[in-house]
Amino acid sequence: MFKRLLLTLLLFTGAPLANAADEIVIYSARKEHLLKPILDAYRAKTGVETRYLTDGEGPLLARLQAEGTDTPADLLITVDAGNLWHAAERGVLAPVESRTLADNIPAHLRDPANQWFGLSVRARTIVYSTERVKPADLSSYEDLADPKWKNRLCLRSSEKIYNQSLVAMMIARHGEEATERIVRGWVGNLAAPVFSNDTKLMEAMAAGKCDVGIVNTYYFGALLKDKPATPVALFWANQGSSGTHVNVSGAGVTRHAKHKAEAIKLLEWLSTPEAQQLFAELNMEFPVNPAVKPHASVAAWGDFKGENLNLSLAGKFQTDAVRLMDRAGYK
Ligand code: FE
Repeated sequence: MFKRLLLTLLLFTGAPLANAADEIVIYSARKEHLLKPILDAYRAKTGVETRYLTDGEGPLLARLQAEGTDTPADLLITVDAGNLWHAAERGVLAPVESRTLADNIPAHLRDPANQWFGLSVRARTIVYSTERVKPADLSSYEDLADPKWKNRLCLRSSEKIYNQSLVAMMIARHGEEATERIVRGWVGNLAAPVFSNDTKLMEAMAAGKCDVGIVNTYYFGALLKDKPATPVALFWANQGSSGTHVNVSGAGVTRHAKHKAEAIKLLEWLSTPEAQQLFAELNMEFPVNPAVKPHASVAAWGDFKGENLNLSLAGKFQTDAVRLMDRAGYK
């Protein structure tokens, strides 16, 4: 009881307590600068007020579980299908049957049980040194296990869920044995210890420490916007096979939402062209709604074929992926 009261007090610290009844409350693992402009646009359009709390996905999920039926949260927004799947598994999300969401969001980018919905797409693909690699030398994630890349590969830590989801989707396609061979090949080709984030990886590449790597496209976009002369380029992986690994940021209505109908309306609006443009652009991501074109700076990276397996598999095989990477010595 005291814990719940404390959590509620923490949530509302610094915010007026009046009129809370008709506000939609959002727990968001997306940062404020990626969220506030969207919610401001929604308020301008509908007059509906929202309040949000931003934190890491772990703390937000723990909080939702601890608060239980008392939670003030109506909507959970987070990144990576692995996290969304996890939240659904923990029972904090509610299924939402919505024709609008089904029409606006491709089936493979939302939960088959309708507990979460992708809202923007990020691709996790190959980056290479433009000084030491020709794009013709590149093909797939699997090929990065080939000995020709010995001492030339940089990877981010396997602790990051982005890599867990990438490997989980490989397990879904190839099975565990074949995936483990590939991951062992990657580890054998590493030119440096694993990096704590994608940006450091690309900076190391630019500094000559390695020639190829795997990153999320928006980190590439942000780095090149900041330092246009960086000698690193994107390569769309697996165009001749499964397609480039894609993931989403997304959302689900909470199981104990106090403003369920309002939260569903907001979620539906987030999938419409009007909101999609803004939602994707803010982080240099791709709109999830196929009717909406990416921002020019993102479209400039070229068209690609994305993986089309349902992203719930990233959750289903997450534990297997973590164990596999551990066995393979991928730190
Ligand atoms: Fe990220």
